[in-house]
Amino acid sequence: MTKTIEAEELGLFRDTVVKVFESEVSPHYESWDKAGIVPRELWRTLGAAGLLCVDMPEEYGGCGVPFEYSVVVGAELARMGFGALSTNVMVHSDIVAPYLSHIGNEAQRQQWLPKMATGEAVGAIAMTEPGAGSDLQAMRTSAVADGDDYILNGSKTFITNGQHADMVIVAAKTDPKAGAKGISLFLVDTSLPGYSRGRNMDKIGQHCGDTSELFFSDLRIPRTALLGEEGQGFMYLMTELPRERLVIGALGVAAARGSLDLTLTYVDERVLFGQKLKQFQNTRFQIAEMETDYRVNKAFIDQCIAEYERGELDAATASMAKYSATEMQCRVADGCLQLFGGYGYTTEYPISRAFMDARVQRIYGGTSEVMKEVIARSLLGRA
Ligand SMILES: Cc1cc2nc3c(=O)[nH]c(=O)nc-3n(C[C@H](O)[C@H](O)[C@H](O)COP(=O)(O)OP(=O)(O)OC[C@H]3O[C@@H](n4cnc5c(N)ncnc54)[C@H](O)[C@@H]3O)c2cc1C
Repeated sequence: MTKTIEAEELGLFRDTVVKVFESEVSPHYESWDKAGIVPRELWRTLGAAGLLCVDMPEEYGGCGVPFEYSVVVGAELARMGFGALSTNVMVHSDIVAPYLSHIGNEAQRQQWLPKMATGEAVGAIAMTEPGAGSDLQAMRTSAVADGDDYILNGSKTFITNGQHADMVIVAAKTDPKAGAKGISLFLVDTSLPGYSRGRNMDKIGQHCGDTSELFFSDLRIPRTALLGEEGQGFMYLMTELPRERLVIGALGVAAARGSLDLTLTYVDERVLFGQKLKQFQNTRFQIAEMETDYRVNKAFIDQCIAEYERGELDAATASMAKYSATEMQCRVADGCLQLFGGYGYTTEYPISRAFMDARVQRIYGGTSEVMKEVIARSLLGRA
């Protein structure tokens, strides 16, 4: 009985989310994709609609609802074909906000979370550097203690929300000789002198995804901006990455649903050789295979969401979720596009965007190869 009420409430929330995206996002998305960025004002619109940081506690501006509500926001964006925006929102609400609520102190939470919930402040997280992607420990950005401050020098790349961010969680070396134990995290206010943004990067998909290089040149930040304890940054990253990977998997599953729905309609409409496309055995088998692939992954992601809510999701299982769901998303996007024929290759048909937006899902948040390494390590130990 309680389960039914919970499912009903989640369903009502989903309906509200969809209505907001239909009115506030759908009419403009194509022009944002062409512009290569969403307008800054959109963040305030999403905040006013109560769609940012929804699982944060009410005293910090959230709605205090379970994690699965937050997943619904990003997942509906992905299902509706707004892949780049789903990434932007996921980073803000499902990655940056939890770092603050799990690791931040009271003053840091009060400083950033309420503004992030209204969209007044946009959040980003900067780990990757030109020489340190999968190999995060190779990062060179440094933070040197100086009186009551730290001085940051270095650069980051591929940072989602980099253009709009008001606060970036920056991973930097506080002790370059200490390996993983020499990394710390900082809440960097982007209005400080010494902080600069590079270009908004041109990508083959997720065009309005706001992905940037960032530069820190003698950037002086107060010691109060240290997130958690000095030298514990890598451990915090490893603790928070499972949630990020699970959410990426959840977006992958939702995007696959979107691709399948577009295709089910198309194969019913397209006529060739005197029959509907859906009557060819190949089409029927393709659809059957892809729907099965989708459902198996959806069931696994739902199970992982429940495990996360119970505090039981381990790193290897989260990696399986990301690996499996994003590979499936790409298989489905490719298979669906094929059924559209040449039309699927034109930007006029949204399946082409689903195809292009999907590709990066196997790369960011840890590549599929890195996911396999994490999974193998849990079974076989280190190589
Ligand atoms: C659109 C976009 C948004 C992003 N957003 C962010 C963000 O907000 N914040 C952030 O910090 N980063 C972000 N990233 C960076 C992303 O996380 C990295 O691109 C990713 O981790 C891979 O690092 P890399 O690009 O340096 O590739 P590399 O690490 O150079 O990998 C190259 C190849 O080597 C393989 N490889 C690596 N390690 C192993 C291994 N141990 N065994 C076998 N093969 C291996 C990889 O799988 C890959 O195929 C984003 C990237 C993109 C494209």
